[in-house]
Amino acid sequence: MAESNEAPDAALDRAHAHTLAWLASLDKRPVPPQASVDAVVATLGTDLPEQGTPAEEVVDLLATACEPGLTAIPSGRFFGFVIGGTHPAALATDWLVSAWDQNSGLRRLTPAHSAVEDVASAWLLDLLGLPTGSAVGFVTGATMSNFTGLAAGRDAVLRRAGWDVAEKGLQGAPRVRVLVGAERHDTVDLALRYLGLGLPEAVPADDQGRVRADALLAALAEDESRPTVVALQAGNVHSGAFDPFDEVVDAAHEHGAWVHVDGAFGLWAATSPSYRGLTRGMERADSWTTDAHKTLNVPYDSGLVIVRDPAALRASMGMQGDYLIHDEAGEPFDKVPEISRRGRAFPVWAVLRALGRSGVVELVDRLCRHATAFAEGLTAIPGTTVVNDVVFTQVCATFGSDARTDEVVRLLLEDGEAWMTGSTWRGEKVLRISVSNWSTTEDDVARSLAAVRRVVGRL
Ligand SMILES: *Cc1c(COP(=O)(O)O)cnc(C)c1O
Repeated sequence: MAESNEAPDAALDRAHAHTLAWLASLDKRPVPPQASVDAVVATLGTDLPEQGTPAEEVVDLLATACEPGLTAIPSGRFFGFVIGGTHPAALATDWLVSAWDQNSGLRRLTPAHSAVEDVASAWLLDLLGLPTGSAVGFVTGATMSNFTGLAAGRDAVLRRAGWDVAEKGLQGAPRVRVLVGAERHDTVDLALRYLGLGLPEAVPADDQGRVRADALLAALAEDESRPTVVALQAGNVHSGAFDPFDEVVDAAHEHGAWVHVDGAFGLWAATSPSYRGLTRGMERADSWTTDAHKTLNVPYDSGLVIVRDPAALRASMGMQGDYLIHDEAGEPFDKVPEISRRGRAFPVWAVLRALGRSGVVELVDRLCRHATAFAEGLTAIPGTTVVNDVVFTQVCATFGSDARTDEVVRLLLEDGEAWMTGSTWRGEKVLRISVSNWSTTEDDVARSLAAVRRVVGRL
């Protein structure tokens, strides 16, 4: 029976043991889950017990019932969606985050977290080549980061048009025009929906999914007087391609537009001398989105929103409350949609501190090197075509027909050695590989390519 003074030692010891067993299993276990939702529910049981259960027994029960239904997402052979693993420094720190239980919205309540957030923010701006003094908000992911950056943009362009959204809302406001590339991420549209802006105007993209500069410049010139937000992309989820920032950011500003960049994984290209060229001109935008739970390999939920003008971000996200003890330096919660939140900056700081500047560059370069190795290895498999220019961490391949590609995706999941996702790009079924995990080795790439060769042989 759980007592209010129950010591956590036994439960934490069990969690530690299950953690080590899970991590040790990653190299050997199939990457896809081996049990269905129903099977896990059956093992867990559905009746809420009348009596309590000691915490350590609950941990054992949960870990045992869930283990077969877990996907080896932290495995070096998981290449689905765009998903990072967890660096050891971030994982260990994330345990401390839960134990410390800091509600990190207020500087005076949680000075340690604010200190770490300030230091990590400055490091991030430096590494990503973004303007010193920009505001950095620690949000749950790129979706909320897009929401936050675009909110600041919406409010700023309406303010310039003489309309205060905070006071008047959107009803009766001048219509805001939002220009996006045809291949922006779906979460940009979702964020615009949250923001009451409706569907954006899609500008045609080129064969790699980059917004066409000429088309965007023409769209900007079309309606000079409308408040305008432009959402660009650093890293297309299929091709990895980057929008031509250098050709469009200044023009967008000349038309009075706010420029937001969705760089959920691609923003990290700016940290590496070898890939920085892809992001040229990006630093002149007004707001940027990136994830820490992708390329930086911290646990979920961790995204970052960066806004050049801290006052613009505070105007959209800030809050005053009589019972809150405000600090002159500004509050962490003035930069994000949430008030209460966990100490998200701790694991971000920990990975940056563990890797150091050269380690971050090495991480980005390594992910790209593995992507190139995938492209070369796939091209050598008969009947296999890599359909994108592999400029960063993303690789898309086809296998002769949509039906054959679908079958490769299905057989790969059955094989279990690696996880890659099927998708449709430019009207064609593709197998999509995203290299985002810090722990992926050359051996993982070789084993995964062998799996593709194996299943193509079975077609
Ligand atoms: C993953 C991704 C998102 C959404 O990120 P979440 O962290 O899942 O909210 C947005 N944009 C791009 C380009 C992405 O790759």
